[in-house]
Amino acid sequence: MPICYHCGTQVNQVFKCDKCGQEYCQFHRNPVDHECNIVRESLNFSSTPSYNQIQSSRNQLPSDQQQYGTIQSGYDGNAISSYQSSNANVQGTTDGTFTWYRRENYVPENAFDSESGIEFKGILFPYKSEILHLLVGSILIYVIGLIGFYSPQNQSILNNLGYGWIIFMVAGFYTTAFLFHEFGHRQVAIHFGFQTKFRLLKYGMIITAFGLLTGLVSLITNTPALPSLALPGAVVVLGLDEINRETGLCKAAGPTINLVYGIILLLISFLIPIFPINYFIGIAASLNFMLGAFNLIPIGILDGQNIFKWNKVVYLILAISMVGLLIFNYYIIYLPPESNPYYVYILP
Ligand SMILES: [Zn+2]
Ligand SMILES: [Zn+2]
Ligand SMILES: [Zn+2]
Repeated sequence: MPICYHCGTQVNQVFKCDKCGQEYCQFHRNPVDHECNIVRESLNFSSTPSYNQIQSSRNQLPSDQQQYGTIQSGYDGNAISSYQSSNANVQGTTDGTFTWYRRENYVPENAFDSESGIEFKGILFPYKSEILHLLVGSILIYVIGLIGFYSPQNQSILNNLGYGWIIFMVAGFYTTAFLFHEFGHRQVAIHFGFQTKFRLLKYGMIITAFGLLTGLVSLITNTPALPSLALPGAVVVLGLDEINRETGLCKAAGPTINLVYGIILLLISFLIPIFPINYFIGIAASLNFMLGAFNLIPIGILDGQNIFKWNKVVYLILAISMVGLLIFNYYIIYLPPESNPYYVYILP
C-alpha cells in the first residue's frame, strides 16, 4: 500500500502534490497540510518568529477571518489545546499566486501566559504555575500509591517485622517514577527549544478521582481494589506537529528514564542485604518497568505510538528491554522464599 510522505500512514489512495511531486493521504494532500517546500519558501517567516512578527503580519491580512485552529502538541494526556481566535488557514496573495500558511504552526512566545490568547481545552488551571501543577499531581499519585500498596494483611506482617513505614517508601518511589518520566519529556523538549509545562489534565483528573474513590471503597470494605489508572497530568509540549527526530526523542525520553531508573533500583535491591527493604526496592524497580511498558503500548495518546512511527528500531529496543526486565523482575519477586535472593540475604 502507498504511504503518505508527510505522516507515513499507509492509505489506499494517495494524492500527488503538483508543487513538490510527493504523494500524500487525503488529510495532507493540500500544500498547506504537508508544509510543502514551495509554500514554506514563499513565506517571509523565520522558523520561530516572535509574537510581534505574528502580530504585525496579522495586521496586513486582507480579511480578518475568525477561525479555529488546533495547535498540534505532544503529550500523554487527552487534552486538546487550540487558539481561540487566531487566523488559521488564511489565504494570502503574493505576486498573483496563492500561497497558504498555517497560523497555528507559529506558537507565540509565552503561550502558557493568560495574555497569549491561547485557550487550552482539557487542561485544568492552564495559567497557574507549574510548581502548583506538579505539587497537586505528585500528591495525588502518592495517595493513590499508598492506597494501592496498603493491604491489611501486608500491613500486619510489615508491622510485626517493624517495617510498617515501608509502604510510604514504595509510594514515594512510585511518585518519583511518574515524575522522572514526565521530566524526561520536559527536559528534552526544553533542550529542543519547545515551550513545555507539566499540566493537570481534566480527563486525567476524572480518571484519577475515580481511582482514588474505588481505592478508598476497597480499603473501607476490605475488598480487592479494582485496577485503576493514576494519570492526573502530563507534560504538554507545544509545537510537536510532525513525526521527526525531535518529536521521537521527546517521546522516547519518558520511557527511557523509567528503564534506567528501574535498572538502578533493581541493582540496588540486590546489593542491600536487609529483608524486606531489598524486596520492596525490587518492587519499586518493577513499578518503573510497568509504567514504561504501559506508555510504550503503540496506541492513541501514549508515547509508544509516536516512538513507533518515528523509529521502529528504537521502539523495539525500548519495548523488548522494558518487557523483558518487567518479566525478570516479577519472576524474582515471586520466587518461593527458599530460592528467592531477597530472602536468602536475611540478616541473623
Ligand atoms: Zn498524511
Ligand atoms: Zn507539496
Ligand atoms: Zn510519557
